[in-house]
Amino acid sequence: MTSIMPTYGRLPVSFVRGEGSHVYDEAGKAYLDGLTGIAVCGLGHAHPAVAKALSEQANTLLHTSNLYLIGPQERLATRLTELSGMDNVFFCNSGAEANEAALKIARLHGHNRGIEAPDVIVMDGSFHGRTMATLTATGNRKVQAGFEPLLSGFVRAPFNDVESVRQIAANNKNVVAVFVEPVLGEGGIQIPADDYLDNLREVCDANDWLLMLDEVQSGNGRTGKLFAFQHGNLKPDVITTAKGLGNGMPIGACIARGAAAEVLVAGTHGSTFGGNFLACAAANAVLDELTEGGVVERAAELGERMVGAFRTRLAGNNRVREIRGKGLMLGVELNEPCPTLVADALQAGLLINVAVDNVVRLLPPLNMSDAEADRMVAIVADLIDALD
Ligand SMILES: *Cc1c(COP(=O)(O)O)cnc(C)c1O
Repeated sequence: MTSIMPTYGRLPVSFVRGEGSHVYDEAGKAYLDGLTGIAVCGLGHAHPAVAKALSEQANTLLHTSNLYLIGPQERLATRLTELSGMDNVFFCNSGAEANEAALKIARLHGHNRGIEAPDVIVMDGSFHGRTMATLTATGNRKVQAGFEPLLSGFVRAPFNDVESVRQIAANNKNVVAVFVEPVLGEGGIQIPADDYLDNLREVCDANDWLLMLDEVQSGNGRTGKLFAFQHGNLKPDVITTAKGLGNGMPIGACIARGAAAEVLVAGTHGSTFGGNFLACAAANAVLDELTEGGVVERAAELGERMVGAFRTRLAGNNRVREIRGKGLMLGVELNEPCPTLVADALQAGLLINVAVDNVVRLLPPLNMSDAEADRMVAIVADLIDALD
């Protein structure tokens, strides 16, 4: 029995401690962490620099609210905008909230330009969160079912299909923005064509739309660039991020540029906790590691190593449909549902996840050792081989 609402299917294991790429349960058993709390603890567990920043800040000042200036928030915003080529940031506490801010920017931007019922184009297979606006934006009926009425103002397109977005442009004069993940995360590590975002940028420019990227999962070094869009040549109008930004400290950010950066003014949006001292102290320490510690480059290198190892190791397995990776967003797609692999891996001392029923998803630490990466591949490949 539990007093917690049963919104999650939980595995019967309780971790009490973490260090680097491992977590430990109550019995002291070690688990190699191939999931990092769903792309959150990219620097690994109990990271010394993050722990130090948090404890120093906790002993100094936790929270004052956004009624006052917050030094670490100013510093974090300056760094995020410089590193992304953007102009300003709204801070909040989660991915869904960052996306709410982006959607409010899109709508207000539309209204400011005389569009009374603005539409945002969103993609099939996407995931944007569990709040009413973000579950409406999400391209997965399971997330929406039972929560109708959904919000109006969304138009759907297939992922990785620029032509369908062009067709919407030709027929719909109410569109104000395109909102898209650079790599589908919850949607099963779907990686679009290399020029997908560049082409979307072109369509957005031709139609005076905002290009808004959901980098909640793909940001913060995860794909081998600080932000996934930096693999291409474009600049987005809005980027949202969260997960890996605080390495476990909840923080979300909506980062804007140009006209999109001028939309939210005093009284239009807010958050009590957003960007408080503690969250920003953690995120500043994370950015130190990502930018000066060579962690982003390491993620790119590890990703190539693991995709290569998976391809070699699983070459003869006809259960495997495709092996995909962008940095350390890794997916092994099988021809059949494989939900039991999660418990099998747990038994074997490895944390993994299965997305959309048949994709083994790995989101491991960005700074792990070669040996840890190799061990992760070996365990997963053995488990897939052992499926009957
Ligand atoms: C996890 C995720 C979200 C939601 O973030 P929360 O912090 O759970 O609200 C939104 N978009 C993407 C792409 C995600 O992976």
